[in-house]
Amino acid sequence: MRNNRIGFKLGVVIMSVFLIVLLSLGLAIDRMFTNFYSSEMRTETEELTSHFAVMAESPDTTTEQMMSTFAEFSDVSIFNVSRDGSVKLHSGLHDSADHSFLQASSLKDIFAGKEMSFVYKDPTGHRYFVTGKPIYEGKSVGSALYVMSSTTNMEQSLSAVRNILLLSGFGAFILALGITWIISQILSRPLVQMQKATRNIAAGELETRLTIRSKDEIGFLADAINDLAVDLQRYRDTRQEFFANISHELRTPITYLEGYAKVVKDGLYETEEEKNLYLDIIYQEAHRIQHLVDDLFDLAKMEEGKISLSLDWIDFAQMTDQAVRKVELKAREKNIKLKVHHRGTAEMIRGDGKRMEQIVMNLLENAIRYTDVGEINVQVNFETESAVFIVEDSGIGIPAEELSFIFERFYRVEKSRSRAYGGTGLGLSIVKMLVELHSGTIAITSKVGVGTRCEVRFPDIQRK
Ligand code: ADP
Repeated sequence: MRNNRIGFKLGVVIMSVFLIVLLSLGLAIDRMFTNFYSSEMRTETEELTSHFAVMAESPDTTTEQMMSTFAEFSDVSIFNVSRDGSVKLHSGLHDSADHSFLQASSLKDIFAGKEMSFVYKDPTGHRYFVTGKPIYEGKSVGSALYVMSSTTNMEQSLSAVRNILLLSGFGAFILALGITWIISQILSRPLVQMQKATRNIAAGELETRLTIRSKDEIGFLADAINDLAVDLQRYRDTRQEFFANISHELRTPITYLEGYAKVVKDGLYETEEEKNLYLDIIYQEAHRIQHLVDDLFDLAKMEEGKISLSLDWIDFAQMTDQAVRKVELKAREKNIKLKVHHRGTAEMIRGDGKRMEQIVMNLLENAIRYTDVGEINVQVNFETESAVFIVEDSGIGIPAEELSFIFERFYRVEKSRSRAYGGTGLGLSIVKMLVELHSGTIAITSKVGVGTRCEVRFPDIQRK
């Protein structure tokens, strides 16, 4: 019962309502039968009294004998009472000595020509239905005729009806109790299951799933709990993967740093040139760690939704030109040509300058990083509704089956290949989030061995 309180409460409520309905229905039926039997008896006794009155008024001398026989046959008692209260004729089972039902006032009324009916209880507790009627002798009332009909038969019938009512009420109660128990079980069982499941999920058993399939609020709640468990599981898995990736990404440059720093510290080099080469590696690896930490910091802030754009009017064309200039040196070192084209009328647009530059720089650096020969074409287009930035390289390209994953954190095409190029695997996921923060879109198309095309579109831009 401890785990099934809702069922219990529901059962108590249903049974209370049921009992109230059952009791009022029982009382109503009992009243109905009582009224029915009483009115039947009243009509019957009154009819009998009329018959007796007609007989009594007849001048025939055998009347008394007939009345007695008829009274016996009809199972009633009759009293023919004279004006002074003395009984002229008595017949039937009721004790002839018991005259307490004869009230002076009622007798007076009957002799005044009135008729009456009432219920009388004799000294032994028996109840009778009594009807009084005047017997005329000529034009005046000669005597009063009382007919007493015992209510015993009626009470026996009523008690039989009551027994049937009680029995069927009890049967209905037991049936309702059973049905209520089943309903409360049906309703409370899934709730108990959900309570257990959520406790298990809270305890870290994220594989827990509910199998409640009902298409109602309970089923929807179970679905929501399942979705929550799936989300938590995914979150836990990606978090584990995320930390594994970070450790891996940090471990490699740190090993380099440790190794080469030790070589330099212990003087394990032969020429000054060799020493500079090692210091160069140390510098590059420290730079890589710096880059990784910056990226991680950005990513964490974005995922928590804590990054907010500081919007300003940006000269987008000038900003992209500056970014191209910054990476030009790297491109020249690799003998790659960098070409920039502008289309449309350059305008000031609303955005976060630092973040927009981060997007542009990231895409330009990727293009240079993954291109060994050829050229990189950069386009800045001002269209009617949007500002578009396109970088097209003639690099190694991305296999079609991997294209859909490149925006995932730490995702790299051919892990070893990317490491040789020096990326962190975080760049594009940050770019995508920043583009979306500007309500923009990013699309990448690529062909292995031919090159990659990245297109960033900032739609609905505000212009000065
Ligand atoms: P990374 O820091 O490793 O470059 P990104 O998130 O920027 O990480 O990119 C994800 C992966 O997509 C890279 O590891 C690389 O394999 C691939 N990639 C990105 N840009 C290009 C490009 N211009 N040409 C070829 N491959 C690319």
